[in-house]
Amino acid sequence: MSRQLQFKLVLLGESAVGKSSLVLRFVKDQFDDYRESTIGAAFLTQTIQLDDATTVKFEIWDTAGQERYKAPMYYRNANCAVVVYDITQSSSLDKARTWVRELQRQADPSIVILLCGNKSDLEPRRQVSKEEAQKYAEEEGLLWAEASAKSGDGVHEIFTSIAKKLPLST
Ligand code: GDP
Repeated sequence: MSRQLQFKLVLLGESAVGKSSLVLRFVKDQFDDYRESTIGAAFLTQTIQLDDATTVKFEIWDTAGQERYKAPMYYRNANCAVVVYDITQSSSLDKARTWVRELQRQADPSIVILLCGNKSDLEPRRQVSKEEAQKYAEEEGLLWAEASAKSGDGVHEIFTSIAKKLPLST
């Protein structure tokens, strides 16, 4: 028997770290250097095949830079969250830590959180070491990955590793 499970996923992180670009890469396999900020908090969906019997459908909510969508109501019923920082901006990791704390306080305790260092294609400009981010993620019990929305590296893996942590036994 095949089954499809659906989960709500929210993206959080400092402005311009590449949240919308990651969604665009994952959902449409596209990248746009000059993309305007998305208007509104529309969601997109993407389905992945986890195994022969299971597909996971993500309902992906991108905060679209609008403060009012960053309120607890936006992530309260989320099953999973991708908290994004930019590996070339160390301040964006501080902001990511703030988001993680907020989720730990306000979101459902079962939420699966993945910390994502985006823009891995900009290695020469790296400010955040893999070791620092990975250590923090381990301490907090988060999944961690680096990715590049631009090249596509690591993007699909983000969603696959989240899917594997979700409660699929229902
Ligand atoms: P958001 O505000 O977090 O949704 O960020 P955007 O998706 O709008 O991206 C902000 C800027 O970073 C845009 O100019 C993107 O083209 C650029 N960007 C996003 N992801 C990457 C990436 O992986 N590599 C590089 N080099 N630039 C990226």
